[in-house]
Amino acid sequence: MIYLTGYHGHKPQDLRTLALNLEAVVVDIRLSPVSKMAEWNKVSLMNTLAARYMVVQEFGNVNYKNGGEIRIKNPTEGANRLMRRGAKNYILLCGCRDAETCHRTVVGDFLRTVSIQAIREVTAEEWAAATPAPEPVVEVTQREWLREVQGEFPVVEQVTTEVNPRPARKKKVVQHD
Ligand SMILES: [Zn+2]
Repeated sequence: MIYLTGYHGHKPQDLRTLALNLEAVVVDIRLSPVSKMAEWNKVSLMNTLAARYMVVQEFGNVNYKNGGEIRIKNPTEGANRLMRRGAKNYILLCGCRDAETCHRTVVGDFLRTVSIQAIREVTAEEWAAATPAPEPVVEVTQREWLREVQGEFPVVEQVTTEVNPRPARKKKVVQHD
C-alpha cells in the first residue's frame, strides 16, 4: 500500500505513530527536505522516525520554487528506490495541506502506472488515530478536590505557627572583579 499525505498541521511524533499504525516507511518526497519549522527538517525527521524514514528527492518537484508546472525530477528512479527498499507500505510525505495542488498527487498518479499497489491519501481518521486527544480541562476548586480525596471526612484547616523563627540572615555580597 502506498499512502500520500502532507504534514501541514501535524506533529512529527504523530507522524511517527501514523507510520507505526500503518506499518509504513515514511518517504520524504520534497525536492529539498528542509523547512522553516526545524522539526520537519531531514535530520530532525531522521531522529524521530529512525529506520522508518527515507528521502527520495527523485520524487521532488523541480519547479517547486518558481511556481511553474509540476515536474517530477526522476519518477522512474524514485519508483526503483521504493522497490529496492522492499517495505510493505509507504507514506509519501510532502508539506502541503492540499493534495490537489501538491506534487504528491502527480507522483501518486505516476506510481499507479508502474505499480499494482493501492495508492491513496491518508484519511483524516487515520491521522486522528495517530494524534493524542487534548487533555480535558477540568476546573476543580480545592475544596471539591479535598472532598473527593477525603470522602466523608471533614476538611480540617491546619494552622501552623512557627515557633522561634530564625532571624533572617544578612546576605553576603560577593563582588566579582
Ligand atoms: Zn506538496
